Amino acid sequence: MPRLIIISNRLPLTINRKDGELHYYPSAGGLATGLNSLDASMERIWIGWPGKEITDPQEQRSIAANLKEDGLVPVFLSQKEIDLYYGGFSNKTIWPHFHYFTQFTTYNDEYWEAYQTVNKKFAEASIPIIREDDLVWVHDYQLMLLPAMIREAFSSTSIGFFLHIPFPSYEVFRVLPWRKEILEGLLGADQIGFHTFNYMRHFLSAAYRIAGFEHNFGKLTVGHRLVNVDVFPMGIDYDKYAFPEIQLNHGDSSFSIKKLAKGKQLIISIDRLDYTKGIPNRLLSFEKFLLHYPEYHRKVSLMLVVVPSRSSVDQYQELKEEVDKLVGNINGLYGTFDWTPVQYFYRSLNFNELVTLYQEGDIALITPLRDGMNLVAKEFVASKEKSKNGVLILSEMAGASNELMDALIVNPQDSNNIVAAIHQALTMTEPERRWRLSNMQEKLKKYNVRHWAATFIKEQKKLMEKQKDQHTNVLSRQDREDLLQKYKAADRRLLILDYDGTLMDFHPDPQAVQPDEQLLRLLKALTEATGNRVVVNSGRDRHTLQDWLGDLPLQFAAEHGVWVKQEHDWQINSSLNNKWKKDIRPLLENLVERTPGSFIEEKDYSIAWHYRQIDRDLGEKRVREFRDVLLYLTHNLDLQVLEGNKVVEIKNAGVNKGKATTQWLNGQSWDFILAMGDDHTDEDIFNALPEEAYTIKIGLDRSQANFSLPGVKEVRMLLEELVAHS
Ligand code: UDP
Repeated sequence: MPRLIIISNRLPLTINRKDGELHYYPSAGGLATGLNSLDASMERIWIGWPGKEITDPQEQRSIAANLKEDGLVPVFLSQKEIDLYYGGFSNKTIWPHFHYFTQFTTYNDEYWEAYQTVNKKFAEASIPIIREDDLVWVHDYQLMLLPAMIREAFSSTSIGFFLHIPFPSYEVFRVLPWRKEILEGLLGADQIGFHTFNYMRHFLSAAYRIAGFEHNFGKLTVGHRLVNVDVFPMGIDYDKYAFPEIQLNHGDSSFSIKKLAKGKQLIISIDRLDYTKGIPNRLLSFEKFLLHYPEYHRKVSLMLVVVPSRSSVDQYQELKEEVDKLVGNINGLYGTFDWTPVQYFYRSLNFNELVTLYQEGDIALITPLRDGMNLVAKEFVASKEKSKNGVLILSEMAGASNELMDALIVNPQDSNNIVAAIHQALTMTEPERRWRLSNMQEKLKKYNVRHWAATFIKEQKKLMEKQKDQHTNVLSRQDREDLLQKYKAADRRLLILDYDGTLMDFHPDPQAVQPDEQLLRLLKALTEATGNRVVVNSGRDRHTLQDWLGDLPLQFAAEHGVWVKQEHDWQINSSLNNKWKKDIRPLLENLVERTPGSFIEEKDYSIAWHYRQIDRDLGEKRVREFRDVLLYLTHNLDLQVLEGNKVVEIKNAGVNKGKATTQWLNGQSWDFILAMGDDHTDEDIFNALPEEAYTIKIGLDRSQANFSLPGVKEVRMLLEELVAHS
């Protein structure tokens, strides 16, 4: 049974020192609730910072021992580390940047260094605990480098990562000097989860544009690994808010909230003090509402709860002053002796107060400028389980708006939109309030935080199985041994090798992929071994192959089988003609004119359009555009269209690498056959060969080949071994 190892910045507890003694208080955040509900048979260990600077090694040991029985492992950080890694890079660089507040992004090398050091510290604390068959789940923006650090130590451990904040658009993300390191850190994980499809889409775009990884329906191939990028919207502990266990006593603050709400419509607003939450915009909109709708004076109050947060950061202090001022202005301007338009509280609420406020609020006005999810919106809706009375006004910039479509969705920058929504909410009929709430409650009940955690883990386990399946195809040590023994024992051996993507890595300029010293040496040694016939079966033109490899006693199939060279001369496939080129060339020339960076390659009996150097999306759009025209033309002219890796090639029908391969099979007998190739034009080779042949696909895509190898490096290693066994 694999264990679940959770790693997050904070452990789910607080440590306090009272009278010289340490006291531990569990903190039941959403994450802890979700995890607690998981399959109990899966042992859980949680690694994180305990929230307090502890410098005395003996005290550290005693805390670690105390927490051990609860499955908690503390990572001790110095105050300086916390200041630079958490207060600095996490909260002054990543937080503003990922929330599109680039004007607040701090670019500071010292912060970045501390971020790396602390991520490393987390890795060092985790690595001795993790076992190869564990499931690791890393959380949030403080630990984005950690997945790759753990990956270095464990090649096959399943690592998940969940980002609890937005992932910004590529155009914003690219501005960060450390963008590549952050992406590579994240891509150490096997599964990367986001709250919304937009965040996922932005991440995939950044992974492609910055690190060159292409995806197929959210799946990326990183080295030998399949990485799943997906959407897992985080839910809440629904029942906790729907059926709260609270006690209200006369005289306590919750009771006052109830009193306050009597006879008035209450708009509630609850957030941490943060510039992302749009508190000033909300106040200005409320002021505008009072200006436009004087009939609501003394009938509506805004209960503004602002929870102190990150008060050492300059922007937060300025924001506090701004909010104080705005509240003062509105109350000064509109307040009467018996009515305070904005009831303002700068403090956190206990659970009793929070739930009472949710229950008593007629309208929740939640208008963040950016918010990864926003749980307050979901909690408000759940708290209306019994009354079915209340209206949620929610910013379209909050992740939660993707699920809570029955809220009144507003653009937080559009104050007229917010004013109209407040008015709509105040005048909404009871049946409408009821159905809107019921629809949202249905969703929140089902997609609660337990469902979120369980789904993430379930998908990660599924991925683990899929990866195992793929690995069964990878040429294992045993398969390799068998292959080498059979090779050694054979007298007549045929080796068929594709060139680009198999013997050589791709390069933006196809002419820059001349064989290197190692490859030439390997091919030479293979051709010299008695009994070997080595064929390079490539899509390249014969002149290039002749130029680059013609000095070796190799045999060739060029242009996907148009030309074949067995002994001395190049022979052409006799059924070919060239007349169609004049019809196709203008089409491709038009493509090049409109697509800078793409180019035409003309071979004897085929013509190809290369688009490796242009944007992938643009390339695909162009291919789609002219595919239909091509299909029409090629059908009439008896041509075929081959879609290779960033290249489309048009040639006579009935010629392919497989047909060419038969020239080495007919009338000849071999004791050992090996073929290797990377793209789908090589599938024709694999299909043409007899069953007992070794066929090896380079890369992880689906293939008819019996085995796979991850890349050119591994191909070279296998060739070295063949040489050694010759
Ligand atoms: N919350 C709280 N006490 C308060 C106000 C809010 O415990 O006085 C909780 C609230 O119930 C919610 C969380 O804080 O679960 C805020 O989460 P949200 O996603 O809305 O915003 P974040 O602060 O994470 O940006």
